[in-house]
Amino acid sequence: MKDAAPETAPETFYLKDYTPFGFEVQSVELTFRLAPKATRVLSRIHFAPKPGAANPEFFLHGEQLTLISAAVDGAPVTPTLTEGGLTCDVPDRPFVWEAEVEIDPQGNTALEGLYMSNGMYCTQCEAEGFRKITYYPDRPDVMSTFRVRIEGDEPVKLSNGNPTASGAGWAEWHDPWPKPAYLFALVAGDLVNHPDSFTTMSGKEVELNIWVRPGDEGKCAFGMEALKKSMKWDEDVYGREYDLDIFNIVAVDDFNMGAMENKGLNIFNSSCVLASPETSTDANFERIEAIIAHEYFHNWTGNRITCRDWFQLCLKEGLTVFRDAQFTADMRSAPVKRISDVIDLRARQFPEDGGPLAHPVRPEQFQEINNFYTATIYEKGAEVIGMLKRLVGDEDYAKAVTLYFDRHDGQACTIEDWLKVFEDATGRDLSQFKRWYSQAGTPHLKVSEDYTDGTYTLTFEQSTPPTPGQPDKDPRVIPIAVGLLGPNGDEVCATRVLEMTEAKQSFTFDGLAAKPVPSVLREFSAPVILERDTSNAERAFLLAHDTDPFNRWEAGNALAREARVAMVLEGAAPDADYLDALQKLLRDDSQDPAFRALVLSPPSQSDIAQTLFERGHAPDPQKIFDAAETFAQTLAQQLADSLPRLYADTTVSGAYSPDAISCGKRDLNGRILSLLTRLDGGQQAARQYEDADNMTQQYAALACLLKAEKGDAQSQAFFDQWKGDRLVMDKWFALQIASAAPETAASVARDLTQHDLFTLKNPNRFRAVMGALAGHHAGFHHASGAGYRLLAENLIALDKLNPQTTARMCAAFQTWKRYDADRQALIRTELERIAGTEGLSRDTTEMVTRILDA
Ligand SMILES: [Zn+2]
Repeated sequence: MKDAAPETAPETFYLKDYTPFGFEVQSVELTFRLAPKATRVLSRIHFAPKPGAANPEFFLHGEQLTLISAAVDGAPVTPTLTEGGLTCDVPDRPFVWEAEVEIDPQGNTALEGLYMSNGMYCTQCEAEGFRKITYYPDRPDVMSTFRVRIEGDEPVKLSNGNPTASGAGWAEWHDPWPKPAYLFALVAGDLVNHPDSFTTMSGKEVELNIWVRPGDEGKCAFGMEALKKSMKWDEDVYGREYDLDIFNIVAVDDFNMGAMENKGLNIFNSSCVLASPETSTDANFERIEAIIAHEYFHNWTGNRITCRDWFQLCLKEGLTVFRDAQFTADMRSAPVKRISDVIDLRARQFPEDGGPLAHPVRPEQFQEINNFYTATIYEKGAEVIGMLKRLVGDEDYAKAVTLYFDRHDGQACTIEDWLKVFEDATGRDLSQFKRWYSQAGTPHLKVSEDYTDGTYTLTFEQSTPPTPGQPDKDPRVIPIAVGLLGPNGDEVCATRVLEMTEAKQSFTFDGLAAKPVPSVLREFSAPVILERDTSNAERAFLLAHDTDPFNRWEAGNALAREARVAMVLEGAAPDADYLDALQKLLRDDSQDPAFRALVLSPPSQSDIAQTLFERGHAPDPQKIFDAAETFAQTLAQQLADSLPRLYADTTVSGAYSPDAISCGKRDLNGRILSLLTRLDGGQQAARQYEDADNMTQQYAALACLLKAEKGDAQSQAFFDQWKGDRLVMDKWFALQIASAAPETAASVARDLTQHDLFTLKNPNRFRAVMGALAGHHAGFHHASGAGYRLLAENLIALDKLNPQTTARMCAAFQTWKRYDADRQALIRTELERIAGTEGLSRDTTEMVTRILDA
């Protein structure tokens, strides 16, 4: 049975309603008899009523299951099947529950629970997928050890924990660490492995494997190195050692998320683990390294210590994103990582926090938890940890986190538990800081200054706009890292962290011979919107002199934004001072190429739209697009003489390596090539395309050629070369749309949905096409409304197969209130069309309703 469409409004779950489960689960034994359309799952579970729980209800979650039989202590029982599960009379003493159910992995296109991908069985249980495998208390605060037996003809059969026995047609696994059901995993198929091993800090040998489809073995080496580096780093920095005899990673083509941290058996979207120089770009390599680290780090922050309920999702995600960012900063360049993270935060989290989907880092209600795997929970959740560390200092942070591991190992915890270890380790009162977890919205931080008789005063005012359900906000604790520069550019006051706690608060600096230039919010010390009346001259000064790399970039970014805004609003020419500053920086070989590439990359067009909206203008996407084109063209012309030399100087030759230095150089080189293409009509790009021996350079060249409308031959050649590689074809699909003109983007995307290689069943391919359309700001928001229509049609079609991916993609409409009345009307029509679709999933219903209610 499939879920019926909700006739009435879907049920809402509230944090305040939390009640513990009335039974302990002492052990779980599962047997899987695999068959594509009729897999049998036998469960044998030891339950015991919790002491003090009087006659607790015995409710087990279960969805889309066919119950074959059930028994309590060996005697058959007939449970009452209810919406979403079953209830049953059980004894008020420990007992054994047994059930046999049948499920249909092949018919499971939602990719939750047990499903099939290219003939291989695999699972995805976070957040609530295990209830589609068998009847079980499917909630994260119920933890148990698992024994799993898999029966089937597949040559490789994997589950969590350590392998215990196997024979012809069967394999058994035992996971000694108690875990919630969302961390359960099973994989069975025709797979090959890339093996290795790691010796832990206490000398224990761990077997490591990356399992892939035959033919992909050559794309595992980089992922394996990333895994070993992650294991070592977590020992060195957090003192955390791996705790099983074996660690398996499996690559799966059809996957809703990036990857999943199942205990001892991580399952990865193949796009997040398979890497080779010929098929992966530098950005792919960096992302793979970060995601492998992220999932591995969950072994302690998520698995050994998990969440009490899904409202606490940020407890594991915010902390683990913070840890993987620390790892990347250590492996690569810390400033480049910080700048990249802030660009991402502003592109994805700020719009969410300022729109109809705004919610606190710890939400207090939801209808469908899958809709809360958001940038707010993950990225803002990580920013909150970063602020905490900045406030208490590195030493106390280490003390508190160690206390967290000591005190809560093996438990399902809350944000209160997390903050309490910081209070106990430091003696601080964090009750005000906790507002970061309970209040949605991005605070605006206004700053004004005064200089009198050698004393410099900075005055800050904070305010947070209303968000759904939260009209008024109390002041938060904001760590503001500030440094001061003298008129000659020397730093006269090193970075100091000001701790703002009031709505309005001043801080003074004494003994200054002249009025300094402040460098405020260094390293982006808090996720806020800084508002300061300043001049372009001062921004250029900071771009040249600030000792804080983040704020140097930020100054350049602000210059770029102001230049664009003036072009859009006033029809101004590209700002000459800014062009000048850019040229200087570009030619400055003493600067890190990755940093130069970041300064050269303009604010996104969506970012400019948001700025215009905040200043009271309805943004015109076409004008924003035109300004970007004009700016790039002008820059290219002014740099005409030096572009060929810059291109040559930044070309990386020799064997491909995805190290940070080479990646930074190729990034800069690609940006220079795109400027050069504006002048030479694509001659250099065509040469690069011919000569490229790696995907980064091949892809960069093709992107330049398509943008210049000179790439038809290369695009066909690229297609012919790579049509057998799903991940490379995702790039090809996305690039067709990204390089299209605004007026044709939607029709290019529409044609691609008719392509033989387009399928709704593969989330990566769907995201490649619809994600690229939504990401083409001027194309998606073209006045014809064709982009809105196409996305809506495809969301309606996908919802029948895969509600989770559909619901996430609805966020493309979240910024709709920014735009003019005509566009708003067009979007409203599409949102209402989606909302009115018969049988729409709970996931998508919730998202569309929230967006429409804005
Ligand atoms: Zn995670």
